[in-house]
Formats: sequence, C-alpha cells, structure tokens
Amino acid sequence: MSNIKHYVTSIKNGEVYFDEQFKFALILHEVGILHLIFAILFLISSHRVLCIYNVCVFVGYLSLDYLNKLKKLKITLFIAAMEVILHTFLTTIFIGINKGFFFYCFTMVPAAFYVILSWNSFKKKELSSILYTIVFILSISANFMISYFIEPIEKMVLGWQIALMIFNIVMSILAMAQFLILLDWDIMHKAERMQILNNELDEEANIDPLTRLYNRRFMDKKLEDKLADLSKEGAIFGIIMADIDDFKKINDTYGHDFGDEVLKMAAQALLKSTRDDDFVCRWGGEEFLIAINGNKKITADVAERMRQAVNSVSVKALNEEVKITMTFGISESIPGLSIEKLISIADENLYKGKKNGKNQVVSD
Ligand code: GH3
Ligand code: MG
Ligand code: MG
Repeated sequence: MSNIKHYVTSIKNGEVYFDEQFKFALILHEVGILHLIFAILFLISSHRVLCIYNVCVFVGYLSLDYLNKLKKLKITLFIAAMEVILHTFLTTIFIGINKGFFFYCFTMVPAAFYVILSWNSFKKKELSSILYTIVFILSISANFMISYFIEPIEKMVLGWQIALMIFNIVMSILAMAQFLILLDWDIMHKAERMQILNNELDEEANIDPLTRLYNRRFMDKKLEDKLADLSKEGAIFGIIMADIDDFKKINDTYGHDFGDEVLKMAAQALLKSTRDDDFVCRWGGEEFLIAINGNKKITADVAERMRQAVNSVSVKALNEEVKITMTFGISESIPGLSIEKLISIADENLYKGKKNGKNQVVSD
C-alpha cells in the first residue's frame, strides 16, 4: 500500500513520466470500456442498434490503440473525435437528446486542447484545438436542432432515461477532471525537468571541464562568501596556491595530451587530501587554489598532505612512469584583508618555494 502511495506521489511530483503514447493508450482503453458499458446497458434496455454500434466501437477502439502504437496520434485523435460526434447523433436520433450523450462533446473540448497543446506530436496547436472546439460546438447545436424537429425512433422507460442521464453527467465530468489531472502532471513533470536542467547548467558553469574541479568563477564567489563569514562569525580560513613544477617541460617532453592527463591526476590528488567543506579549484593553467576551513597551521598541514599525495602520483608515459611534484604557497585570512591581498600573499609564498627548489610548502 505504501508502495502505491509512494508511486502516486512521484507521479504527482513529476518524477515519473508517462509518454504521450502511453497516456493516449490509457484514454483509448477507458473510452473503449465506456462503450462496452453502453453496449451492455443498451442490451439490457433492448436498444439493439445502439448496442451493436457500441460493441463495434468497443472493438474499434482496440484497433485505434494499434494506430496509437504506430505513433499516429493525430489521426487517432481525429477518428476518436468523429466517433464521439457520431455516437451523439445516433443516440439523439434513436433515444433523444435528453439522455445526455451530448455531454461527451463538451468533454472532448478540454480533451482535444490537452492532447493538442501539451503533446509534442501536434503542430499548428492553436489552430487545431480551435477547429476541434468549433466542430464540437456545431455538433452539439446540430443535435439540439435535430431534437426539436425529429421524434426519437425508440422509446425508453423513464427509469432508464434518468439512470442514463445521471451516468453520462458523472462520466463526462470525471473525464474532464482526468484531463485536468493529466495536464497538472505534465506541467509538474516539465517543471521538474527544467529544475534538473537548470541545476546541470549551474553545475557546468562552475566546473572546469578538464579536471572536473570547481573553476575560477565559482571560487571567486566562494571566497567572497568566506570573507563575509569571517567578518560576521570570525570564521578563519586559509588559502593554498598550488602550482605543478616544471609543467612546461612535461608538456614539451611528452606532449600536450599527456600534460592534460597530469593535470587530471594532480587534481585528484589535491581533492582527496581535503575535506568536504574545503574547496579545490583550477585557478588557471597548472595552478590550483584551495580554500581551507581553518587557520594557517591547519592549512599548512593540508598543503603538506597534498604535496605528499602529488609526490606519490606517477603518470604512465610510453616507456616510463613520470613522477610529478608541486609547490604550495599559503596565506591566512585576517579581518580587513581583501581577497586580492590574501591571494597575492599565497602567490608570493608560492614564488618563494619555486625559488627555493620547488616541491615544498611555504607559509611565511
Ligand atoms: P614552474 O615549475 O616554475 O611552475 O614552471 P612551469 O614550467 O610549470 O611553469 P610555466 O608557467 O613556465 O609553464 C606552465 C605551462 O603550463 C605552460 C602552458 O603551456 C601549460 N599549460 C597551461 N594550461 C594547460 C593545459 O590545460 N593543458 C596542458 N597540457 N598544458 C597547459
Ligand atoms: Mg608550474
Ligand atoms: Mg604556473
């Protein structure tokens, strides 16, 4: 039971999606079953022609489902609409308009609008749905005209008349409600899809395509947030500026593609040395900027862990394993210092490390 409830909730939230064909098949089966019920009612109430017509239509709807499976949605909708109109005329002529079969023509207006407007198979959507509406309005009017001038061919006992009228009102209103629910589900599904696409776009806009680390754009925003947290809550943070040593030589010796591979491996080594609340970004070229939740000491420890992790990386070239090293410069956030200043301190320390022999962490 809870499984069914969960399933219905996912449909309502737009997480589960039924395609146009599936929904049309559902509608066609429902209409088919409705005609089978009419056939039985006309059989019991001894209206032979209408009974035979409804049996034929019931079989017809099963074949329509075949057309639907071939994705011929337009022609399927057209045939179904014509059938509803024909049924309305037949019932008006045989048993009179006051049995309420014309209500289904009203139902067909939102049904046609729903199918045409919200499903992709239909082009010229506005024109088609307006044409369908006009055809249904004309059909209803024609049925009323006929009922003024022609006496029904067959008589029906009063009990059956009332029962049929109520049945038709209830069924046509339920059908209208169903189309509104389907429309609501479609809207929810589209909103859900939009949200997912937006999230994906957002994520892509913040990610460096080569290393899959955050990019500079994201880090700029993150550092501003961190600076705001520092002035509000005193949350100290550290910055590491990291650069691959002799990367130009690696590129020149093994080629640019190999250089890209080195960048990816280095990025993974940096990432695995941090915690979830730290941020690692590719600042540009072979430079990485890392924001660490903690003071200078903690930041230097993380940088040392990163240095060792990078040292243990070896990237396979044709006949050899290439080892890489990185140099790290550190700075600590102090209230009043701008982000630019913080970064330039880390940069200066990185430069010192490069001058001092590379493959080291410099924090002063
Ligand atoms: P140092 O140890 O002083 O940092 O020397 P270096 O050779 O690493 O530094 P340099 O700034 O001289 O060279 C960096 C090289 O990184 C030059 C550039 O072509 C290369 N590079 C930048 N971005 C990419 C990239 O996306 N892929 C590859 N393969 N190389 C890149
Ligand atoms: Mg370098
Ligand atoms: Mg560099």
